[in-house]
Amino acid sequence: MNKNLMNVYGVDASKMKGTPLDVFLPETIDEVKRIVTTNKRICIRGGATGLAGGAVPENNVDVILDMSKLDKISNLSGEHRLVEIEAGVILDDLREYLYEFGLEFPVKPSSHMVCTIGGMIATDAVGNRAIKYGKTSHWIKWVEVIDCNGKLERKGITELSDYAGLEGITGVIVRACLKLSSVKTRTASLVKVGDLDDIVATVREYKRNTSVSMIEFLDKGISKKIGLEDTYHLIIEYEDDSGKFKGRDYDKLLAKRDEVYPLIASDGFVRIEDPKIMLDKFPKLMRWLEDRKIPTFGHIGVGIIHPCFDYNQEKCIPEMMKVVKRLGGAISGEHGIGILKKAFVEFNDKKILENVKKRTDTLSKFNMGKVI
Ligand SMILES: Cc1cc2nc3c(=O)[nH]c(=O)nc-3n(C[C@H](O)[C@H](O)[C@H](O)COP(=O)(O)OP(=O)(O)OC[C@H]3O[C@@H](n4cnc5c(N)ncnc54)[C@H](O)[C@@H]3O)c2cc1C
Repeated sequence: MNKNLMNVYGVDASKMKGTPLDVFLPETIDEVKRIVTTNKRICIRGGATGLAGGAVPENNVDVILDMSKLDKISNLSGEHRLVEIEAGVILDDLREYLYEFGLEFPVKPSSHMVCTIGGMIATDAVGNRAIKYGKTSHWIKWVEVIDCNGKLERKGITELSDYAGLEGITGVIVRACLKLSSVKTRTASLVKVGDLDDIVATVREYKRNTSVSMIEFLDKGISKKIGLEDTYHLIIEYEDDSGKFKGRDYDKLLAKRDEVYPLIASDGFVRIEDPKIMLDKFPKLMRWLEDRKIPTFGHIGVGIIHPCFDYNQEKCIPEMMKVVKRLGGAISGEHGIGILKKAFVEFNDKKILENVKKRTDTLSKFNMGKVI
């Protein structure tokens, strides 16, 4: 494989770097089995939009298992609202396929153009509509996984938690049966809020409205950067006609929201974090971030925020994690632990993860050095 391609396979969206020993792009599940049985150390890769380094190989040790060619969609049942997919299916491709049947997979991370369903299951991706639709694992009926011996097994409700959110350390997800919901007509509104404490009350108020499916927060600097007034903003999405932005205007507003991270990353704020915080503690954490001039946006409806750090600010991250823990929050609400957040995992959580790893990946083959 040429050097450029090896470089591409050495990174994911976290900007961490490694050099793969080799790269495999299986097109069938049998090929995945063969690759798993003939290699010692495997780093699994979906769309590589992960922000914690989970798809980055250890230098000259891991082979990359790129799942993107396993992209078949089958057995759609409109009656039961179920569809079967291979792990490499890109979320937007699935959404496009389902649209003409009036169905959708409602969990939608902002990386929807590129991320794969396998990666979403592995990270238990959350996304903008979590207040209404929860996270990826809520929408999975079963997954099929290949273990370290190359054995394929279907895992349903009692074993799903060994794979969903385990970031590929337990096995390769090759297929899944997804639950679906009906396509909704959505509208949105932009709400200006002058004060951090008012945001808590405003978010609580909107959450009482059962038509609301998304509450997104933009800080003052980010609002300004995307052409809004220099104050805090909430983007409120409705699953009815209540929002001011409809049709194309709605699409434009949502596209603007999706562009936030690429936009501020282009200003040097590349390291994005995803702490989850109780709503009433949000102003305290925000003040800490604002004192350090750290741009922040996120899924405030479920308490996940995205502070973005530039190179010089990265040294504040351990301190921020301490603040988050002190306020009763969690170090990662959706991006996962990967390599970047390993140092912040609590002792008891680590023990649980180690136990799951020991009983599933008995040959220590998958995503070694990640999560634990
Ligand atoms: C601009 C941007 C916006 C984002 N917005 C959100 C958001 O709103 N919500 C959110 O939750 N996340 C978000 N993310 C993070 C990321 O996109 C999601 O975690 C996504 O689900 C990862 O999917 P992927 O296919 O790119 O996985 P990858 O990055 O390729 O992999 C992620 C992890 O999953 C493992 N993995 C991948 N495929 C498999 C498989 N088939 N079997 C086993 N393990 C596997 C990898 O080894 C790695 O550990 C965002 C990222 C970017 C860059």
